[in-house]
Amino acid sequence: MTDGVTDNIRRLGERAQSMIDALATISAEEGKLTRLYLSPEHKRAANLVGEWMRRAGLTVRMDAAATMHGFRAAGREGPRKPKRLLVGSHIDTVVDAGKYDGNLGVVAAVIAAEELRVRAIALPFELEVLAFGDEEGVRYPKTMISSSTIAGSVEANVLDMTDAQGMTMRAALAEFGADSSHLTAEAYHRADVVGYLEVHIEQGPVLDQAGEALAVVSAIAGQTRFRASVRGEAGHAGTVPMAIRHDALAGAAEVISLIEAVGRRGAKASLVATVGEIRVSPGASNVIPGAAEFSIDVRAADDATRIAAAAEIRQGARQIALRRGLIFGMETVHEKAVAVAAPRLKRPIASAIADVTGKAPRELMSGAGHDGQTMIRLTDIGMIFVRCRAGISHNPLEFVSAADMGLAVEALIRTIEKIAEENA
Ligand SMILES: [Zn+2]
Repeated sequence: MTDGVTDNIRRLGERAQSMIDALATISAEEGKLTRLYLSPEHKRAANLVGEWMRRAGLTVRMDAAATMHGFRAAGREGPRKPKRLLVGSHIDTVVDAGKYDGNLGVVAAVIAAEELRVRAIALPFELEVLAFGDEEGVRYPKTMISSSTIAGSVEANVLDMTDAQGMTMRAALAEFGADSSHLTAEAYHRADVVGYLEVHIEQGPVLDQAGEALAVVSAIAGQTRFRASVRGEAGHAGTVPMAIRHDALAGAAEVISLIEAVGRRGAKASLVATVGEIRVSPGASNVIPGAAEFSIDVRAADDATRIAAAAEIRQGARQIALRRGLIFGMETVHEKAVAVAAPRLKRPIASAIADVTGKAPRELMSGAGHDGQTMIRLTDIGMIFVRCRAGISHNPLEFVSAADMGLAVEALIRTIEKIAEENA
């Protein structure tokens, strides 16, 4: 890289850092970052992002789901109505979050729009920066309400969902200042959209271990979440002989070991299987557990692998239950199919990353969920992953260097330019 390029990337990285730091001060809790959907903090963050969008020369509007849109018209007049390229991420966070998850993607998109203007780069399509307010799904039972609204997959009944305080989403939107009456009318049309791009931190350790700053995302893993239950018979821990017990927790433990084994065997297909939550009742040290309920989270890079793994877990668990005289149940609570990135967007992303890093990037699957999973119902998706230290995320220790952020922003700008060249 020449010094000019290095200076440019340093400048972009510093700009991204200052914006990330500004957003990180907007929190519900002193000393930690918590910014839930439609909270007063979300409002302040949305206002700040809107101000940045305006300064970047974008026309700003807030939609019915409180997503901030920053619009730039197409640079060239053509005979046909221009299409629109969407670039964005989310500004909501988990509780006690890191400051880069989601926020970096919004900041990168705003800076990219700003730079395209400064560099007087005309595009043959419209550009729209999106700052979604709900990706994490912490406040309401559903996730990705914002992107689902644009993708046209949101249903009006989401407005009746209530948060832990009993407040409906309808009331929260009204308090926020968003007009929810036209929620389902916000949907974009496939024919009008070029694609959806997102810059996001990897949230895993691969890039950090490989010593690489950026990667192109191949797919967002499909995911199924189950609620499993094992029912047995509670009894006195001192008087019931071992041979005639129906210990629900001991049975659950065997099922959990099976789940881990299934996940390990599918490692090649990026299969992962996790039990992260368990409740035992009655839950006393001197009582044989009568029931156990736990979560099962299964993800994979292809849907067939994930579905087969879930079936194997269900069947194996039933056998374990039968042998132990227990009743096993397994109910799907959430399911998302794999979202494969489009080759026509992966190509310019890979080429842009090679331009700015001097090396062809690796392809990485995203094990974490992202807005691309809902946006894919509307249009093709492409994502750039950015290295984060030790892969730590959803944690205040989350860290991305300013240098890597600079590379990510420049890679995004060049990706947009390359897509423009192909669409010219
Ligand atoms: Zn995120």
